Amino acid sequence: MTLDGKVCLITGAASGIGNAIAKRFVEAQGRVVIADLNLDAAKAAASELGGDKVAIGVGMDVSNEEQVNAGVDAAAKWFGAIDALVSNAGIQIVHPIEEFPFADWKKVLAIHLDGAFLTTKACVKYMYPQRSGALIYMGSVHSHEASPLKSAYVAAKHGILGLTRVMAKEGAKHNVRANAICPGFVMTPLVEKQIPEQAQELGISEKQVVTDVLLKETVDSQFTKVEDVAEVALMLAAFKTNALTGESIIVSHGWHMN
Ligand code: NAD
Repeated sequence: MTLDGKVCLITGAASGIGNAIAKRFVEAQGRVVIADLNLDAAKAAASELGGDKVAIGVGMDVSNEEQVNAGVDAAAKWFGAIDALVSNAGIQIVHPIEEFPFADWKKVLAIHLDGAFLTTKACVKYMYPQRSGALIYMGSVHSHEASPLKSAYVAAKHGILGLTRVMAKEGAKHNVRANAICPGFVMTPLVEKQIPEQAQELGISEKQVVTDVLLKETVDSQFTKVEDVAEVALMLAAFKTNALTGESIIVSHGWHMN
């Protein structure tokens, strides 16, 4: 699978899953825009990938319309196109609903849903006139199943699937595909932060959170790896026909089956 110089803007790509996607895309001859809240880390990640002919770092808070528009426009100006969007930036905050601060609820929804909306709107401005593009949204097994303590995250990830399906319908007449990837648990800073919080909320040890909560429903007690998710993202970005659109691809060692 090759990306043949395609320009792919990946949000939240200074860390974790997004960073692995950026690496895999450059290996596959893509050019990448590492868009992240953390500008220094975005720039460092871009320079590690070979510098500004193949990768640039752009600072943006995906929930801020002005920053998103400025970042996407600057990236399109630099590389001359936007061929794929991977809407990946995200955070996790866990609380039982009766203790969930409204500000935290709004923050989770803003980063996941406002972020996906704003980056989509800014990128289709370039994709529609060129009559090609791939929209790739980072869902989760929580796009399909609930989990206690994660009301905002589960609501946001279900919303991501709704947006994916709408964009498959709206994008079709412009030759733009939209799909979601739904990973199981991946050991990244997002999950590392969540484990002690879940342990405290549930009154169990961190080891039990791993074995009895995160991995319990998998077929082989394995975490999904960032590279597994990156491989699926590459397939979606490189896919040559429009038949694959509006789908949610679950990458979870079978977690979702139970
Ligand atoms: P991570 O914490 O390693 O990376 C998240 C990145 O997003 C960071 O670089 C961070 O700076 C950036 N970010 C945070 N807020 C931002 C904002 N407002 N604007 C721009 N960038 C922002 O997390 P990850 O595990 O790689 O998560 C990436 C995506 O994958 C998220 O959408 C997450 O919900 C999803 N996901 C993760 C897992 C998992 O188990 N790790 C499972 C399923 C889905």
